[in-house]
Amino acid sequence: MATGLFLFQNDLRLHDNPALRLAVEEVDKLICVYCIPSARANRYPYTISIPAKARWQFLLHSLKALSDQLLLRNQQLLIALEHPLNILPELITRHNVSAIYSSEHVGTYEQRNWQTLMGRYPYIQFRAITTHTLFDRAELPFELNELPSTFSKFHKLVKDTPIEKPIGDITKMPPRPKDVAIFDVLSPLLSKKFTSEFNGGETAGLEQMANYFASSAPSNYKETRNGLDGWDYSTKFSPWLALGCLSAKSVLAALAQYQQAQCEQSGSSDWIKYELMWREYFQWYGHKYGHRLFQFRGIKDSSPNTAFYPERFRRWCEGNTPYPLVNALMNQLRQTGYMSNRGRQIAASCLTNELSLDWRYGASYFEEHLIDYDIASNWGNWQYLAGVGADPQGHRHFNIEKQTDDYDPDRTFINKWGGDKFDGGLDSVDAADWPIY
Ligand SMILES: Cc1cc2nc3c(=O)[nH]c(=O)nc-3n(C[C@H](O)[C@H](O)[C@H](O)COP(=O)(O)OP(=O)(O)OC[C@H]3O[C@@H](n4cnc5c(N)ncnc54)[C@H](O)[C@@H]3O)c2cc1C
Repeated sequence: MATGLFLFQNDLRLHDNPALRLAVEEVDKLICVYCIPSARANRYPYTISIPAKARWQFLLHSLKALSDQLLLRNQQLLIALEHPLNILPELITRHNVSAIYSSEHVGTYEQRNWQTLMGRYPYIQFRAITTHTLFDRAELPFELNELPSTFSKFHKLVKDTPIEKPIGDITKMPPRPKDVAIFDVLSPLLSKKFTSEFNGGETAGLEQMANYFASSAPSNYKETRNGLDGWDYSTKFSPWLALGCLSAKSVLAALAQYQQAQCEQSGSSDWIKYELMWREYFQWYGHKYGHRLFQFRGIKDSSPNTAFYPERFRRWCEGNTPYPLVNALMNQLRQTGYMSNRGRQIAASCLTNELSLDWRYGASYFEEHLIDYDIASNWGNWQYLAGVGADPQGHRHFNIEKQTDDYDPDRTFINKWGGDKFDGGLDSVDAADWPIY
């Protein structure tokens, strides 16, 4: 009787989950575990360890959905408000676990936890399988340490590389050992009052994908994708992709089906694949550069001329800067946990350029709030915008006035999200901490 343990991370789904499929095929009993991230150690001193409400609730609803799906398959999800290195050793010993399965993770801490467990239990089989990306490492047409330094070079190399089809749903699972104690930690944490357009979980993610491809929006994607507000200008798949409620391969398969059915001439929906390739690039970028993803000097090892001004940073977070568009964007982020791609670029550019702030504080704030927070996409994009990452131009500075004219000419977005709330004066002290009168 082999007992396995499956550690869910950013793969909260039963469709196209080859890591879970392997576990299901190889063991007689299975313990399914998820460790709540807020209980994990702080990433860095400037990182906030408890996610903001929208991100937190999206995660909890996604876990609830996974838990419900597992129950339908006579399984149960053990959700631990614990660091994995606290809970897993106890489970391994008590239940005589002989194999541990998980999805390969891009996070430095997640990888370190995995390595620590491998070191502690040399007699256990450890299987980390790729589930978060379109390719696995062996399918990439280059060695990881030869990942191109820019996206366009990467895209040239991978655009014709075949992508495996997604695998089907897992319909049957081995039972859990009877004496695994499961407590309901979710119910007291789930907020009934919290409402969002984004419902967490695999079923909701698959539904969004089906609805999006049942509409005509994909055929206008390239033209609309830079919008700031609304549901249809972009796919909105990112929160589900980030937690793995949706697989990137399933999105590509649905896109191919859409294109076949529509016989689309414009090629507009092709841009969805192009954007998923950006996601792919940042994932492998994260795998290649590891902890350098979080370093001030980035992968370019160049130092931006920025610092930390607590008051400016607070104003940026609270949507109280001299830039109404940025204020509106930050208010939208705080209230919903989501911001458009164009919005993220403008807000990030403002933080590093207009406000001369250290980009890592901005990235951390996004980490706290974004319901689609994804380590590689967030920190990789921030590095790119701060000029210490994969941008061949070296530096991006968005002209906020021009962006306002282009994307919010009649100030609908600014008015909707209360962007005109600047109370005057960016700094109340000078660089030497003297009050400014
Ligand atoms: C400063 C900054 C921080 C970001 N942080 C995150 C993050 O934490 N998580 C995250 O998923 N995306 C992040 N992005 C990328 C992008 O903004 C979001 O993926 C996108 O806005 C999500 O909305 P959507 O699903 O409607 O995107 P769509 O435009 O519909 O794109 C389809 C999919 O392609 C991927 N994608 C699109 N653009 C990018 C991009 N620039 N980089 C990586 N993947 C992309 C996403 O998975 C997205 O769901 C960030 C971008 C910036 C500039």
